[in-house]
Amino acid sequence: MTIDKILIANRGEIALRILRTCRELGIKTVAVYSEADKDLMHVLLADEAVCIGPAAAKSSYLNIPALISAAEVTDAMAIHPGYGFLAENADFAEQVEKSGFIFIGPRAESIRLMGDKVSAIKAMKAAGVPCVPGSDGPLGHNDQDNMKIARRIGLPVIIKAAAGGGGRGMRVVHSEGHLINAISLARSEAKTAFGDDTVYMEKFLENPRHIEIQVLGDGKGNAIHLGERDCSMQRRHQKVIEEAPAVGITEKERIAIGKRCVQACKEIKYRGAGTFEFLYQDGQFYFIEMNTRIQVEHPVTEMITGVDIVREQIRIASGKGFSIKQSDITWKGHAMECRINAEDPTKFTPSPGKITHYHAPGGNGVRMDSHVYGGYVVPAFYDSMIGKLITYAPTRELAMIRMRNALDELVVEGIKTNIALHQELMRDTHFAKGGTNIHYLEKKLGIKD
Ligand code: ADP
Repeated sequence: MTIDKILIANRGEIALRILRTCRELGIKTVAVYSEADKDLMHVLLADEAVCIGPAAAKSSYLNIPALISAAEVTDAMAIHPGYGFLAENADFAEQVEKSGFIFIGPRAESIRLMGDKVSAIKAMKAAGVPCVPGSDGPLGHNDQDNMKIARRIGLPVIIKAAAGGGGRGMRVVHSEGHLINAISLARSEAKTAFGDDTVYMEKFLENPRHIEIQVLGDGKGNAIHLGERDCSMQRRHQKVIEEAPAVGITEKERIAIGKRCVQACKEIKYRGAGTFEFLYQDGQFYFIEMNTRIQVEHPVTEMITGVDIVREQIRIASGKGFSIKQSDITWKGHAMECRINAEDPTKFTPSPGKITHYHAPGGNGVRMDSHVYGGYVVPAFYDSMIGKLITYAPTRELAMIRMRNALDELVVEGIKTNIALHQELMRDTHFAKGGTNIHYLEKKLGIKD
C-alpha cells in the first residue's frame, strides 16, 4: 500500500521533522494546529492545515474527535502522532484505526502493554531482558508485606507509578522509617497525575547511566535494532543532552543487548519505532521502560547509522517493512544533541515570548531541528523545547568541538534560553571524559532531592 497523505497530529519541531520526510517521499501533508499555533513553521509549509481548537492542549492536540474529523475532511490516509500528546495513548491508536486511517505507530495492545510499566517489566522478564530487582508486580496495601519487599530488595528503593511518564510520580526511599509514608504519597501523586494509583518498587541504583536501544519492528514478527544512545545528562529525570554511541559500550555489549531487545520485539510482534530504556551500572543493563513512539533524541541515531527513522516508520505503516536489514546497520562516527529550551537559565522556569532575532548555526556536521524563526512567538501553553542542535563528526571529541562552535553561533534573542548551560557543559571536563551518570548534572547544579 502507498500512503499518499499524512495528517501530523503534533506541533513544534517534531511536526516539522515529520513534514520534511513526507516531502522527501512525495507524500502530501496535513498540519493541525491550535489557535495559538497558526504561525508554526510546519503549518505554513503543509499542503493543508486545519485548526483543531483553542490553545489548551486538552481542547486541541489531545482532542481525539477533532483530530479524526480533520483527517476525514482532508481525506488523509494515515496519522503520525509524533511524541508526547497522544503518541502513547492506546485509545487514540484504536480510534484512528476504527475510523479507517492508518496509525503510524504500534498496535493499541502494544501501547497498552508498555504503558503499564508493571506489565511491561513482566513481559520483558519473560523475553529474557534484564530488569532492575524489584517488587515484580504492583504493591499491595499491607505495610508489613511492603516492608518485606523493601528489605529483600535492599534500601535505597524507588517507588514508581505504573502509569508514570515524563519523570513524574517517583519517590526515592533511603530509610525504612520513610517507606510507608513514601508509598502512600507516591500513590496519591500517581492518582492525581495519571488517574491510576498503582505503584511498584525497584532498587534505586545510585550511579547508573541512562542508555537506551532504538528498535524497529515490522508488526509481522521481524525486528532490528539501531544501537544505543546515552541520555545520562538529566535534570529532574528529564534529558538535556543525548549522544550516540555511548562512551565505553563495546561492540559486543551493543550487539548482546540489541539482540535481547530485538527478541522481545519479535515476541510481541512489535510494529513501528520504539525505544528500550535501561539503566546501566557496573557493566549491567537494567530495563526500566519501553517507549512506543519516536523519541526526541532520535536524530543522534540517524546521524551515526544513516537511517531516517521517520521514513522507516512510514514504510512500516505502509506494510513495506524496513528498507534495511540488521546486517546493513553499521555505526559510524559520533553524534550529540542539545535540547534548546525557552527557559530561565537559573530557575529553569519557562520563558515564552517573541523571538526578536534568530540565527541558526551551520557548517559541516551541524543539524538544527527547530520550528522557530525571527519574529516567532513561543506560546506559553506547551513544552518549552524550541529546538534541538545536533552535531556529527568522526570522533566524539570533534562532535563536541562542533557543538561548542555551533552553540556560539546560535542566536536566540527576545526570550531566555538554556544555551549558556549547554555551552558550560560542552566545556565540562568530566563530561568530556565521558560516562557521567544520571545524577551528574543535578550535583553540578547543586540540586538535591
Ligand atoms: P518516566 O517514564 O517518567 O520517564 P523512567 O522509568 O523512564 O520514568 O525513569 C526516568 C528516569 O528516572 C531515569 O532515566 C532515571 O534517571 C530515573 N530512575 C528511574 N528508575 C530508577 C531506578 N531504579 N534507580 C535510579 N534511578 C531511576
